Amino acid sequence: AAKAEGRNNYRFFLPSMHERVKERKTIEEDLRNALEQDQLELYYQPKIDCRTEKVVGAEALVRWHHPERGLILPGEFISVAEECGLINRLGAWVLEKACKQTQAWRDSSLPGMRIAVNLSPAQFQDAELVESVTKIVKDTALPEGTLELEITESILMNNPEKAVSTLKELKALGVMIAIDDFGTGYSSLNYLKRFPVGSIKIDRSFVNDIHVDLDDKAIVDAVIGLGHSLNLEVVAEGVEEVEQLEYLREKGCDFIQGFLFSKPLPATTFESWVSDRHSRVPERVAAKS
Ligand code: C2E
Ligand code: MG
Ligand code: MG
Ligand code: MG
Repeated sequence: AAKAEGRNNYRFFLPSMHERVKERKTIEEDLRNALEQDQLELYYQPKIDCRTEKVVGAEALVRWHHPERGLILPGEFISVAEECGLINRLGAWVLEKACKQTQAWRDSSLPGMRIAVNLSPAQFQDAELVESVTKIVKDTALPEGTLELEITESILMNNPEKAVSTLKELKALGVMIAIDDFGTGYSSLNYLKRFPVGSIKIDRSFVNDIHVDLDDKAIVDAVIGLGHSLNLEVVAEGVEEVEQLEYLREKGCDFIQGFLFSKPLPATTFESWVSDRHSRVPERVAAKS
């Protein structure tokens, strides 16, 4: 937003420090209520196989129905939750909700469903993470490879030894790990080899101009090549245009997410969207041969 206001005057539009602190305080208090009063909801964005264009799973994305302010996106409250120590409770709620929903889908209309859940750095450092993941995976009896946790590069760089051991424990439970927003962080390519990671998600910022910007093309080509040479699945985020999809498919990208197919949807809408799509979309692979 600051950029849109113009270089010269954006400073005038930044709220004062005092206002921002007050605003955060309010969000913090409201967020405590939100957890107790069931104001959070998970939306689900389909993840699509590039070749077949079938839905293989979903990413769970949290939403907050604020009684006065309406729908609030995670960009506005996840960092507050992290700072005030609510993130572990929020994260535990997300994890449980997402796994239970997935179990229900797998038992009924969407048998092959996989689910991805975002983890904050603070959750990753929580000593109880592995224990609570173990419990939820057992309780819901999700088969190996069904739950994927999305983490960012910073999680790995902070304390690599600890990260390796936590990731190994998660892997032993059959949980997959994806590196989210790949390419935006402090990347050391070395860690991809050292950590038990299953996939990388190319950040939306590289995908945006993929069909027009040569630099972005080069970056995306390189990431797909790197990922595949390390036996990782490559996912592209933020695909909005058919040209982007076509480029990614041509380069061998495995999965995509983006508004081109669907925005994140409430559970019931997601379920009917997928069922409807699968009854209509012929499998590309089958169609080709
Ligand atoms: P993320 O994990 O990288 O999720 C992708 C974000 O991009 C989502 O925003 C999604 O709605 C948006 N998106 C997907 N496709 C497109 C597209 O084609 N175009 C555009 N412009 N945007 C697209 P959302 O839901 O607002 O979430 C923002 C971030 O908040 C997430 O980024 C994730 O880092 C965090 N987040 C969301 N839910 C949770 C959660 O349950 N726990 C934690 N710790 N973080 C979460
Ligand atoms: Mg994510
Ligand atoms: Mg992302
Ligand atoms: Mg993100």
